[in-house]
Amino acid sequence: MEFLKQWLQERLASGDYRRLFPLDRSAAGRLTPAKRPQSAIVDFSSNDYLGLSTHPEMIAAAEKALVRYGTGVGAARLMSGDLQLFHDLEDAVAGLKSREAALIFGSGYMANIGVIPALVGRDDVIFSDRLNHASIYDGCRLSGAKLVRFRHNDTDHLEECLRKKRGKGRALVVVESLYSMDGDRCPLAEIVRLKNRYESMLMVDEAHATGIFGTKGGGIIQEEGVEREVDIAMGTFGKALGSYGAYIAGSETLKKYLINRARSFIYSTGLPPAVTAASLKAIELIAKEPGRRKILLDNSSYFKNCLREAGLPGEPGPSQIVPVMVGDSRAAVKIAEQLRETGIFVTPVRPPTVPEGTARLRFSVTLHQSRLELADAAGSLLEICGKMSAPVSFPTE
Ligand code: PMP
Repeated sequence: MEFLKQWLQERLASGDYRRLFPLDRSAAGRLTPAKRPQSAIVDFSSNDYLGLSTHPEMIAAAEKALVRYGTGVGAARLMSGDLQLFHDLEDAVAGLKSREAALIFGSGYMANIGVIPALVGRDDVIFSDRLNHASIYDGCRLSGAKLVRFRHNDTDHLEECLRKKRGKGRALVVVESLYSMDGDRCPLAEIVRLKNRYESMLMVDEAHATGIFGTKGGGIIQEEGVEREVDIAMGTFGKALGSYGAYIAGSETLKKYLINRARSFIYSTGLPPAVTAASLKAIELIAKEPGRRKILLDNSSYFKNCLREAGLPGEPGPSQIVPVMVGDSRAAVKIAEQLRETGIFVTPVRPPTVPEGTARLRFSVTLHQSRLELADAAGSLLEICGKMSAPVSFPTE
């Protein structure tokens, strides 16, 4: 097993070695390192965008379900692990997404690796945006279908690929509506046009858009009014919805098919009831407290302006995910370490999560941060990078 050490040493040398940091969460949006309990750090790495994970109504809903149903359902839903609560959540998701039906999965990762192989196989082709999440790529690989990766958000390239490689089997186009590491949106209307023209299925991962975009918080699909055109809408409960798990929304037939076909649904224990109840409450809160998503987007614009005013070159993207491009992995790690010393926790995102040479700091704006903290973070970042002579920028220069 010598290769384990050797592989890890290579990672260390390239700056791409990952390590865990045990953190306590004593206050909402504040992290305290286990080794230094007195120093609170502002969390810029969380996807708890709307701050729902600490919402008193979420906690109360989870507690109630915990007391009523216990800690786990003890079986897959197709065995004895099904609860009416799961169906209530699915109905709520179908409403949020303006679709006939929805099906819950254990996590976003499990949804993507379960759904894609259920829809396409060896005789089929998948057209996937190059920057799609690892779980989408793992689903593609598991399916055995031919994989065609098109250039990020490049619909001309997608069309060329569809024209040349569509074949006679089934075709599946997969995109994210809001890209997790880049914070940019996909050109959804044009992708819908292409999926119709080339008679393909369209799957859209809304992991980072659900709860934030759209008139009802139903995501970018809703904002662009293309609900009927997206055959498979996927999203997670673990990000803006402050809970855990994931959903697929689409037709009633799709739901029935996935219950019978998606292996990560069939062969895995149902979600814990407390988690499910929290997700259900989150959907209610999205409708009841629409001000949250407005404040989030306003604060995101404020943070991007602060960065611009502090001297960050380039053009910021359109969302609450604000990547600051560094390029070199080691430099990204160093900047993140120094930011941590000043009370800011931000993750350096490095290959293989992002392409070689595009290491970045991924700042995510959440309702746990105050405007003062956003301004301070922007100032500290630029000051540290200036001292290190590390050139940083928004994604597009
Ligand atoms: N899709 C995307 C675009 C994601 O960013 C993530 C999480 N990083 C997932 C899927 C997986 O979701 P989960 O964390 O619920 O497994």
